[in-house]
Amino acid sequence: MTYKLVESSDGPAIQCLRCGLVSYHPKDVEHRYCGRCHIFHEEIAMRSRREAGTLLAAAITCLRPDLTCEEAQRLRAAAVEFIRAYSA
Ligand SMILES: [Zn+2]
Repeated sequence: MTYKLVESSDGPAIQCLRCGLVSYHPKDVEHRYCGRCHIFHEEIAMRSRREAGTLLAAAITCLRPDLTCEEAQRLRAAAVEFIRAYSA
């Protein structure tokens, strides 16, 4: 998580945990956007989940050299499927 939603007396706000910027702009809150970092937080979260999936798939292949190609492929596909469901 790279952001935090804040409830303030001025209404809902979003705080960026990377740079600390707090924005009260409704669009920033709605789109989970940081105007200083110029990033959409959800995009980062999704990208890191996708990267985790790639690493997981690679780890399966490395840790189980005894797997046949077919077994490794099936496990990799399961990992990718899991990450896709998780990222949706
Ligand atoms: Zn920021």
